[in-house]
Amino acid sequence: MSRAIPGESLSIDRKSRVLTVCDGVQLRSPDERINDFDDVTIPFSEECAQMAASRCIHCPDPAACVIACPCDNDIPSALWMIEQGEYLKAAELYRQSSSLPDICARVCPHEQLCQGACVLNKTKGGDPVLTGMLESFVIDYEYRTRGYTIPSSKSNGKKVAVIGAGPSGLGCAEQLVQKGYQITIFESKPSAGGLLTYGIPNFKLPKGVVFRSVKNLEEAGVEFVYNTMIGKDKTIAELFQDGYEAVFIGVGTQVDAPIKAEGADLPGVHLATEFLIRTNVSADHLPKGLEPIKNLGKKVVVIGGGDTASDALRSSLRLGAEEVTCLYRRTEQEMPGGAHDRELAREEGAKYQFLTQPIKFIANDDDGNLARVECLRMELGEPDDSGRRRPVKIEGSNFFVEADTAVLALGYWPDETISKSTPDLKTHNWGLITTDEETGATSMPGVYAGGDAATGPDLVVTAMLAGRRAAAAMDEYIK
Ligand SMILES: Cc1cc2nc3c(=O)[nH]c(=O)nc-3n(C[C@H](O)[C@H](O)[C@H](O)COP(=O)(O)OP(=O)(O)OC[C@H]3O[C@@H](n4cnc5c(N)ncnc54)[C@H](O)[C@@H]3O)c2cc1C
Repeated sequence: MSRAIPGESLSIDRKSRVLTVCDGVQLRSPDERINDFDDVTIPFSEECAQMAASRCIHCPDPAACVIACPCDNDIPSALWMIEQGEYLKAAELYRQSSSLPDICARVCPHEQLCQGACVLNKTKGGDPVLTGMLESFVIDYEYRTRGYTIPSSKSNGKKVAVIGAGPSGLGCAEQLVQKGYQITIFESKPSAGGLLTYGIPNFKLPKGVVFRSVKNLEEAGVEFVYNTMIGKDKTIAELFQDGYEAVFIGVGTQVDAPIKAEGADLPGVHLATEFLIRTNVSADHLPKGLEPIKNLGKKVVVIGGGDTASDALRSSLRLGAEEVTCLYRRTEQEMPGGAHDRELAREEGAKYQFLTQPIKFIANDDDGNLARVECLRMELGEPDDSGRRRPVKIEGSNFFVEADTAVLALGYWPDETISKSTPDLKTHNWGLITTDEETGATSMPGVYAGGDAATGPDLVVTAMLAGRRAAAAMDEYIK
């Protein structure tokens, strides 16, 4: 089957593969993709990439896409280079403003950022330039043809500790190693990547894409110390005693928000993080004590309305569940997760039940496993602090949803291991680290923080940038 790039007459022959197009991105067909956890997007060929890039009309500086990109990627120049076939030059340009260009290219909510701002959206029947796919194309091309090595710099003999190997920690390390610092990343899990590895599923972000960035850092001399929980196995004070001159904290928000409902501890009820790790991470990278989940039963409910919920719905479908339903207490309009991911989940067979609040998880008499969820119907009231209309219970509206597995995807809270062991570190809002927004400086000299640990759950790109900004400030501080 062939399919045209939006706005162009060029057809792409994809042999026998049936494609769907979602927001202009070409995807494997739902029937094919729910049989595995492989990437759902079909990468561009060179011909398609040039054609897609040539759709850019090169708006006057600063272009709307650049303004909307948290990294300030020089997208119009990169697109011009791609159009000319200068893929490696385009890759170099993306690498100037981003430490994880191929990762952001895959997981950024483009419809809310660069692609959402593209002026072609405003033209009649217009589709935006597929900036994310194009960034992904050039970085993959670079790896395939020339490879990539982080530019090295002579050692300055100074040591910096980074706590957490998520996007913020990796962004910080990538910048500081280029300035000659000797970096050690302390990570509590057995592998690097943070939520890139232990959260975002492979069908959105293949693990190989994460691990090649980690390998680049290792080859540049960054040391990774795994299975080490700072605050428990070692304190920040001890890191300074060990000779580290500055510390970056990029520990994310690691605690799943709980649900106040009887039976939430029944077998078959899972917290989203544990569920996504056990369904998406291969045995050799699993944290101690966690086993892969193989059988979910026929009916799965996922409770929550964010990206994590979409990821859990789509993972459940890939594990063979027959009926996969999202229960959300507001309406679709108030859902925090990306519309693109919801569209893909629907294409793959997920159902949505809105204005529904689970209040009790009920076990099967035979084996004690989850059998059904008691719910209440809701209606929308006045807006709350977040500006979204508050869900209000309709008393007496109780009903039951059958389920063999339930996944609780209700958001994340900070883990207090570091703040409790570091009394001088100021925190706010249930343990988020208080920082200077520009520099990431905390209340303690030489200690910087960024990413979800400082802002609360946000995006990969914002976490990575927080790490880069802190790196610049740490360099100044140490000098
Ligand atoms: C399921 C899911 C899907 C998502 N999908 C998207 C998406 O599609 N697009 C997007 O932009 N964003 C997405 N996000 C959000 C994004 O993943 C986060 O905003 C981003 O990973 C935050 O980066 P970080 O470095 O601050 O923290 P994290 O990625 O959480 O990394 C923190 C790291 O610190 C380690 N750590 C924690 N405490 C300690 C300690 N005391 N000592 C040592 N190590 C420690 C953790 O093990 C972890 O490896 C998603 C999040 C989830 C949960």
